[in-house]
This record gives sequence, C-alpha cells and structure tokens, in this order.
Amino acid sequence: MEFKSLEEMNELLINCMKCPRLVEFRKNVALRKNRFYGEIYWSRPVPGFGNHDGKLLILGLAPAATGGNRTGRIFTGDKSAQFLVNCLYKVGFTNKSTSENANDGLIYYDAYVTAVLKCVPPNDKPTLDELNNCSPYMEYEIETMKNLKAILVLGRIAFESLKRYLKKKGINIQGMEFKHGTFYEIDNNKRIYCSYHPSPRNVNTGRIKSDDLINILNDIKNYIYA
Ligand code: SF4
Repeated sequence: MEFKSLEEMNELLINCMKCPRLVEFRKNVALRKNRFYGEIYWSRPVPGFGNHDGKLLILGLAPAATGGNRTGRIFTGDKSAQFLVNCLYKVGFTNKSTSENANDGLIYYDAYVTAVLKCVPPNDKPTLDELNNCSPYMEYEIETMKNLKAILVLGRIAFESLKRYLKKKGINIQGMEFKHGTFYEIDNNKRIYCSYHPSPRNVNTGRIKSDDLINILNDIKNYIYA
C-alpha cells in the first residue's frame, strides 16, 4: 500500500475495516462494565503518536481496550501507558510522567510510538492474518522515519512482526530471538532493542520493573546520541 504522507495514511487508517473480527471487537469493548463505562470510546484504529522525525521508535502490540481504544491515542489512559511514559520521562524522552488523554499536553522528544496492530484484539491475541493486514501501516511509519536510529520493541508479538518486515526488506534475521534487554544491529547502523511489554500482567508478576526499562532506555539514549 502506498501513501503520500503520514497524514494521508492516518486518514485512511482511522477508517480501516480490513479485519472484521477487530472492527466488531473495537466497538464492543466500550460496552464492558468498568470504571470507564458510559464514556464515549474512540473505538477505531489508533494512529502512532509523538515525534515522527525522532531517532527512536517504540513499537507496541496494539491499542489497549481502555487505553488507546478508549482515548484515541496510543499508550494513553491505561496502566501500560502509565508505566511506559513514567519510564520515558525519567530518561528524558517525554515532557511529563503521565499519559492520560489526548489533550493532556504530553510531548515525546525524539521518539515516536506506534503499534504493529492498530486495533485492539481480543485477549491481546491477533491472528497472523490480522497482523499481515495491518503491517503496511507500520511499514510506512518506519520507512518514513528519516532520522531513525533505534527501535524499542515491546513484547514478542511485536518483535516477530518486525522480523517479518525486516525479512521482507532483505535484512538477515538469522539468530534474532526475542530476549528482554537484548539488542540487534541491523543495516545503516540501526539497532533493535527488546523489552517485555509493560502490560499489567508483566508488571504485577514482577517480570518487568521500572528500573529494567529505564536501563534499556538509558542504553538507547547513549546509543542514539553517541
Ligand atoms: S487491525 Fe489494522 S488492518 Fe485490521 S482493521 Fe484495524 S487498522 Fe485495519
């Protein structure tokens, strides 16, 4: 799929209906009884956010049901967002430590955040067809980040999606396995860093701690500004 600009891509993206299961699901999550019940949900595909001219791309799995899918901004309004943005702030990638809603004044410095899948999937489990349907959006976002130096991939599904893209581009992905805290060099002196996804499950079980992610972000910072 060819786009003329990121703006044009996002116009098409927010009206995308390519995955019937996700089109249905992204609307239905607004009907769940929780503390946001009764709010008007975005319930559409969620574009990337931040500084697209930046050096760092943060790649998550998908909008969260009551996060991006509710607020219309990726990594906004849910617990994963709270964890991630607080860590980014401590390392200097954002102007504030919270990400609550689309009008909260959050600014990303030198970093852009997006997801490999732009619609919330049931149980955080997209099908391969859905990931493939959505990949042209992520691919365009990556290819138009002209200053890109590092990609921080959050979780295994995002990592495998990125690997499929790299393979398509002819980049050798042999030996690239998802491992928290690891990085891989790819062409043009770019690096891919891996981290567990800061989902409530991973945070509550202690699988990922703030200090872990802050350490990775500091390594990235040292690399992109070397
Ligand atoms: S997941 Fe991607 S391809 Fe599928 S409907 Fe949403 S935006 Fe479209």
